[in-house]
Amino acid sequence: MEGIIGFLQNENIRFRTQVSLASCTTFRIGGPADLCIYPSSLEQAAALVRFFKKIECTYFIIGKGSNLLMPDEGVRTPLVFTESMDFLSFSEGGIQAGAGVSLARLSNFAAEHGIGGLEFLHGIPGSVGGGVFMNAGAYGGEISQVLQESVSVNRNGEKQVRTLAEHAFSYRHSSVAPGEILCSALFTGVSDTPEQIREHIAEFDRRRRAKQPLEYPSAGSTFKRPKGYFAGQLIEKCGLKGFRVGDAQVSEKHAGFLINRGHATYAEMTELISLVQNRVLSQFGVYLEPEVKILK
Ligand SMILES: Cc1cc2nc3c(=O)[nH]c(=O)nc-3n(C[C@H](O)[C@H](O)[C@H](O)COP(=O)(O)OP(=O)(O)OC[C@H]3O[C@@H](n4cnc5c(N)ncnc54)[C@H](O)[C@@H]3O)c2cc1C
Repeated sequence: MEGIIGFLQNENIRFRTQVSLASCTTFRIGGPADLCIYPSSLEQAAALVRFFKKIECTYFIIGKGSNLLMPDEGVRTPLVFTESMDFLSFSEGGIQAGAGVSLARLSNFAAEHGIGGLEFLHGIPGSVGGGVFMNAGAYGGEISQVLQESVSVNRNGEKQVRTLAEHAFSYRHSSVAPGEILCSALFTGVSDTPEQIREHIAEFDRRRRAKQPLEYPSAGSTFKRPKGYFAGQLIEKCGLKGFRVGDAQVSEKHAGFLINRGHATYAEMTELISLVQNRVLSQFGVYLEPEVKILK
């Protein structure tokens, strides 16, 4: 740990110790992280990855923490946050966005510049990096439809540029490897008026507020959509709407969302996830794969 901190100080890379993960995730679950690191550029990210490789230290990357379930005991592995890679620019080639930019801000920026097609991203509470890693999507759109290329630091600490084709996107999946830090991405869309784009955003936001339990902490849809089904419908048909394990609950508003009613623990949430999976499997023969990344 001291060796890592010495390196960070030498390289002028911002860090914090003993950070509550409940405060960094939308689930509001998780104990203290020993070390959180905030590189602000591709160069800093590359130096960091090379250093971790040299000392053979594993690490985990976090964007906005909106798809993560963290343990109550906290995490000893260093966490690399992308929030300081927070730049946005517009040119004829499209919109260049840093990994830490929120998808809402990206979508608003596109609206200001009359670029439509990114409206569906507005209500997804993630970052550009997390959105690309997850191939985030909503209302018929997926980030892969508006991405042109991305720039990341691979696990050897080298810069890697990926075109859309090289991403090999599929449902909630991209070819960004775990440990590779996506630093920025270039987006394009279709020409539209800012007023029209804002209307689309408002409509998507209305639909989201009507259907989703946004008043409670969650990580969005807990499970991926199984082929030919909707996870929420299967869970509801098992009679699990509103079912609770402590403060972890299947939302009464949308059964695809597992929510934190206040003080849910990691143990309660993982128990509820397993219980839901088992019930759906025994009643319908369908395995619900978690969309949420669960750290151990
Ligand atoms: C209320 C709510 C609604 C939601 N609605 C939707 C929705 O409609 N559609 C949807 O797809 N998702 C939705 N989500 C889930 C979540 O917002 C998305 O998965 C989002 O893309 C995650 O981005 P993030 O920055 O929060 O990533 P994190 O949760 O921080 O991380 C998720 C994964 O991405 C990796 N990662 C993050 N940043 C990088 C990076 N720069 N480089 C490499 N790897 C990285 C992490 O290591 C981790 O494996 C919702 C979540 C909530 C809470």
